[in-house]
Amino acid sequence: MLYPTIPGLDLSVHTIFCIGRNYEKHARELGNIAPSSPIVFIKPLNTLCFNGAQVPVPDLSDNVHHEAELVIAIGKDGKNIPVHKATDHIAGFGIGIDFTARDLQDTAKQKGHPWALCKGFDRFAPLGKFIPYRNQDLTDIDILLKVNNQVRQQGNTKDMIFSVPELIAYLSKQFTLSCGDLIFTGTPEGVSAVQAGDRVKASLDEYLSTVTVSIVK
Ligand code: ZN
Repeated sequence: MLYPTIPGLDLSVHTIFCIGRNYEKHARELGNIAPSSPIVFIKPLNTLCFNGAQVPVPDLSDNVHHEAELVIAIGKDGKNIPVHKATDHIAGFGIGIDFTARDLQDTAKQKGHPWALCKGFDRFAPLGKFIPYRNQDLTDIDILLKVNNQVRQQGNTKDMIFSVPELIAYLSKQFTLSCGDLIFTGTPEGVSAVQAGDRVKASLDEYLSTVTVSIVK
């Protein structure tokens, strides 16, 4: 698979950055405290898939969790981007799910190992259609996730610990951000396990951007 296009934007995906524990209630539901600076990890490109995809439960895990997230697409390269210029670098935004093998993550946390394995299985990052960014308010977007039509996650981006501009500024101190980079901005509370046969639907403001996937063996 080579650099697929971000749905709704005329951009190829570059790097998939993700932020952990960016909502206090979610940090607490997993027994963590809110971080004092953003927790950053990267998902590999094999995780990408799109609306209608089948997401396999890996043989190595018995506890795959959904994490519905606002995802930002970068449209302009930059390094050391100041917070007040950060939105100039946004091409668009959409819904994404950061699937996580929670059992493998718990082991990794205990051993002090990285999260690449628990976050990096095939099709562990479904994306919905993106909306081009035209200065929309990113600080009041509902995030909803249903499994088999039952609500599991219901949050709002107003509860983010680090705002989208703060995340862009922070990441760009460490990495040169490139056109086509994605930033998964963290999940609100309500994460839970999925099983083969489940239908998972996540959305921003219910209809603004949606993605539906089926979980398979
Ligand atoms: Zn996540």
